[in-house]
Amino acid sequence: MAQQTPIQITADLSDAPRKLYHAEVDLPVSAGPLTLTTPQWIPGTHQPAGPAQWITGVVFTANGQSIPWRRDDVDLYEFHIMIPQGVTTLHAHLDCIVTARVSQKLAVLEWEKLLLYPANTPVRDIPIQPSLKVPPGWGIGTALTPVGSGPYPVPAAGSTTRFAATNVEQLEDSPVITGEYFHEFPLAPTITPKHYLDVASDYPEDSKMRPATLAEVANLVREADALYGSHHYHVYHFLLTLSDVAGGEGLEHGQSSDNGVGEKGYANDAHQLREADLLSHEFTHSWNGKYRRPVGLYQPDFATPQQGAMLWVYEGMTEYLGNVLAARSGLKNQAQYRDILARTAAGLDYTPGRTWRPTEDTAVAASILRGGNPAWANWKRGQDYYFEGELLWLDADTLIRKLTKNKKSLNDFEKIFLGKGGNTGSLIVPYTFGELVQDLNEVVPYDWATFLHDRVDKINPRADMAGIEQGGYKLVYKDKPNASERMLATAGGHRSGGVDCWFSIGLRIGNDGNIADVRWNGPADRAQLAPGEKIIAVDGQIFSSDALRDAIRKAKGTTEPIHLIVQADSFVHNAEIDYHDGERYPALERVAGTPDYLDDITKPLTVPEKAPAEPKKDEE
Ligand SMILES: [Zn+2]
Repeated sequence: MAQQTPIQITADLSDAPRKLYHAEVDLPVSAGPLTLTTPQWIPGTHQPAGPAQWITGVVFTANGQSIPWRRDDVDLYEFHIMIPQGVTTLHAHLDCIVTARVSQKLAVLEWEKLLLYPANTPVRDIPIQPSLKVPPGWGIGTALTPVGSGPYPVPAAGSTTRFAATNVEQLEDSPVITGEYFHEFPLAPTITPKHYLDVASDYPEDSKMRPATLAEVANLVREADALYGSHHYHVYHFLLTLSDVAGGEGLEHGQSSDNGVGEKGYANDAHQLREADLLSHEFTHSWNGKYRRPVGLYQPDFATPQQGAMLWVYEGMTEYLGNVLAARSGLKNQAQYRDILARTAAGLDYTPGRTWRPTEDTAVAASILRGGNPAWANWKRGQDYYFEGELLWLDADTLIRKLTKNKKSLNDFEKIFLGKGGNTGSLIVPYTFGELVQDLNEVVPYDWATFLHDRVDKINPRADMAGIEQGGYKLVYKDKPNASERMLATAGGHRSGGVDCWFSIGLRIGNDGNIADVRWNGPADRAQLAPGEKIIAVDGQIFSSDALRDAIRKAKGTTEPIHLIVQADSFVHNAEIDYHDGERYPALERVAGTPDYLDDITKPLTVPEKAPAEPKKDEE
């Protein structure tokens, strides 16, 4: 029988600036043995990264007496407790040491940090009522429904905000952002249900957001509404932190998304281009990933391992749609969409790991491919199901357009696949490979099973360029970076700094000469360079990005190699790179006389909202 009385949990974020969250939890219990657990497999992270190692100060009490506990010897997330006769409520106190998504001025609460609930029970069947305390004056952004009449979203100092009862599955899926510099912006008021952008920042000016950006995020809401034709939430909150301390993040939820960028992440066009598809990607997940989820990625609890084999749909199709929606909304323009697509396609084409590892294996092995050392990453492959999926779904979109003379497109597929059941509210409906094929066939009959198997399960030594080519373009290499790459280079962060010579000599290299990766079987590999080494000198000059680019240009069309002095650990050696094709940077070039589907795809479906005039400096 399902438990009826909700667990009561009060999260106390008063100590957030000290990187410590507290919780008081009251659990309905009956006498006898009880096993409580904390989440292990966190949905959306595709790995067993629950916070058990950071949970501290766990004390159980009942009727004023402390109750002993013992951790399970095998499942380290579980606590075993013997409930005495006569006890109907077990109280638990716990703290969580918080290592990310927190700063002196803002905090993100992912409820799994503080959750304790009965093990071996489907989490959607466990009712729970959440409450929250935040530092005085801090605002609250969340998709949870506040109850009572207190001020919201900025509660009275010292007060506790109560939220409507939900279940453990939904609470884990409903994070909170809170911060001193907090703004809540309603978006696209003509669209139902309601959408909000909740922003918290470390400095007061950053959370105000540029009017143009707000208009583009509102466009995103309208474009998603037009593309998907349904929604699966009662309200949607984009939760956004702007902080150099609280870290980068993009984590999807059904009714919200947790987005983290640097403090100037949307402050100018170059920074915005770097983050252009963040909100649209995570928003798309409300449909693709949350509402519709591959069977292996939906488990009844957070203890059962998730299986990633179909992440090329969950993440790959989201990567495609997120970039398309960003372009349709104006978060980037059509030329920028093409420039970044060129870089994506070229990067995959120049990933030699694809000669031994199929894309599907990057999805199956997702939980061991996240992050880590960049050394030989191109030979290992990373979470390539994101970008391989982007090319695959572009291929499918342009193929549908070609087969139907541009009368149908992937837009029609999304309405079928992501819109089943109409507007549903919060719901998870798993799917199989067979259903995916069936829905594609409903748009246009084709051998979609073979189409997908060929691209996903098989070894493909070259990346899938069919979508770009059916879209009326081809991938070429030029001797200068495209305009978007040049713009991104001014924005700081991981895409700037260092010289970009991956497609020429085959090195990923920082401004300081440190080699992050060497392209397997490329010119630098043949010169015996290795990741972790440092280039000290180039053609007789001390290393600089300019000196290396000069050397690559100078060697073009000659037979003279590029001469390097390289530091390897505490030794120094000479290396000669025998490369004579000059600088090479990817770009898309229009093929005259072919249908221009790529630009059809990135055209808005709705009438864009114009940005209001920039407010004068003295206005708030
Ligand atoms: Zn994603």
